[in-house]
Amino acid sequence: MHLFCGDITTILSEIKSKDPELFGYINSELERQRTGLEMIPSENFTSEAVLQACGSVLTNKYSEGYSGKRYYGGNEFIDSVESLAVERAKKLFGVPHANVQPYSGSPANFEVYLALCKPGDVVMGLNLTDGGHLTHGWKTSATGLIYKSVPYHVKKDGYTDIEEARKLAIENKPKLIWVGATAYTREFPFEEFAGIADECGAYLAADISHIAGLVVGGVHKSPKDYAHVITTTTHKTLRGPRGAMIMVTERGLKKDPGLSDKIDKAVFPGMQGGPHDHIVAGIAIALLEASKPEFKEYAAQIVRNSRALAEGLMKRGQKLVTNGTDNHMVLMDLTQFGAGSGIFAQEALEASGITVNKNTIPGDPSSPFYPSGIRLGTPALTTRGMKEKEMEIIAGLICGCLGEIKKYKLPADKEQRAKYIGSFKTEISASETIAENRKKVADMASLFPLYPKMGL
Ligand SMILES: *Cc1c(COP(=O)(O)O)cnc(C)c1O
Repeated sequence: MHLFCGDITTILSEIKSKDPELFGYINSELERQRTGLEMIPSENFTSEAVLQACGSVLTNKYSEGYSGKRYYGGNEFIDSVESLAVERAKKLFGVPHANVQPYSGSPANFEVYLALCKPGDVVMGLNLTDGGHLTHGWKTSATGLIYKSVPYHVKKDGYTDIEEARKLAIENKPKLIWVGATAYTREFPFEEFAGIADECGAYLAADISHIAGLVVGGVHKSPKDYAHVITTTTHKTLRGPRGAMIMVTERGLKKDPGLSDKIDKAVFPGMQGGPHDHIVAGIAIALLEASKPEFKEYAAQIVRNSRALAEGLMKRGQKLVTNGTDNHMVLMDLTQFGAGSGIFAQEALEASGITVNKNTIPGDPSSPFYPSGIRLGTPALTTRGMKEKEMEIIAGLICGCLGEIKKYKLPADKEQRAKYIGSFKTEISASETIAENRKKVADMASLFPLYPKMGL
C-alpha cells in the first residue's frame, strides 16, 4: 500500500494513476479556476497549506465528543488539533468560546436554533429575497418549517429596515433574531439589532459567514460586543476550507451562563456525529493565516477592489443596489434589461469566463429562481493579487457582455423559459464580443497565476 505524505502533487498523482476519469474532472476544474475570473462573492482560493490539511490522514479518525472528552480512543493528537483551532478562533475573534466542528454554515445555523429554540418558537431574520440566508427562516428551509418565522426586510433604498424589525420584534416576541445576510453590500447593523434583541428579550445571533475575513481584517465592525452568538462559514472571505464555526460572546455568557454548553450539545450529539478533523485542521491553518499582518492588507484590498468595481460599473450606466458598497460585494440591479434578466447576465458572463451568480434584488419584480440581479464579489480575485486597475478593466468587460443580453427578455409563460434560455445560450456562444472577452479574461487571469506549484 502506498502511504501519501500529504503533498498536493503526490495526492493528485495517485488519483491520476488510479482513477484517470476523476483526475480528468479535477484537472479541468483547476484549469477553469486558473483561466477564469472567479467573482462569486462567497468563493475564494485557499492556500496550499489548507488544501494539504484537508487531504491529510486526519480524515481517517473518529472523534465524537470534544478535546479531552471523546467517545473513541486514539484521540491524543486530534485533541491537540481541535484545541489549536479553538484557541486561535477565540483569540482572533475576541470571544470566550468557539466550536469548530460544524460541517458547514447551514448546519451551524441549525445548531443555534436547536440550542436556543423549541419547535414552533418565533424567530426573525432578514427575508431571503431581501438578501437574507435560507437558514434565517425561509419557508422552504427546515428553519422556516420547524420554527415560526417572522422575516424583516430592507427598505426601498436597499438598507435594512430597522424600524420594521423593531416593530415586528415587539409584536411577535421572537426567541432568536438573526443579523447578517448573504447578499447585502453595506455594514450589518449589529448595534441596532442588539437594542432590538434587548427590548424583546431575544437571543441575537450574528451570521458573519460572508464577512468573517473582513471582520478579522479590521474593515468591518465586529459583532462581538453586540451579539450573543456568532456563526460563520470558514470558506468565504476567511479563506479556509469548507466548514463553519459557532462562537459565544462575553455578552452571550452574561445573558445566559450556560450558553456555551447549550451550543456544544446542539452540535454534538444534537445534530452531528464525528467531526471532520481534516477540515478542523484546515480551519486551524486558515485562522493562523488570518492572524498575520498580510491578511489585514488582504481584507483592506478586497474592499478597495469592490469599491473600484462598483465605480467602474456605475460610471458605465449600471445600477447598483444601495448605489455602492462597503464590503466585498456589489449587487447589480438589472431591471433596465427586463425583469428576470439575471440568468442572461450570468450565462453571458460565464461564456466570457467571468463566474457570478444571479440574485434577487430588493422588491424583485421576478422570482428567486429567475431573479433580476447579479451578485459580484472581489475576495477570490484579490487572493490572486488583482488590484483597482484590474477592477476597472473587469468593469468594462462586464458591461461589454451585458450589451449582448439587451434584446433577450424572459418569457412570461413559464413553460417557454427553458427552451428560450437554451437558444439564448446557443446564440451567445456564437457572439464575437463574448469570444473576444473570453480571450481578454484568459489573458488577464494568466498574469495572476493560481496554484503555480500544482503541476498537472
Ligand atoms: C454561505 C452562508 C451560509 C451557509 O453556508 P453553507 O456552508 O453553504 O451551508 C449561512 N449563512 C450565510 C449568511 C451565508 O452567506
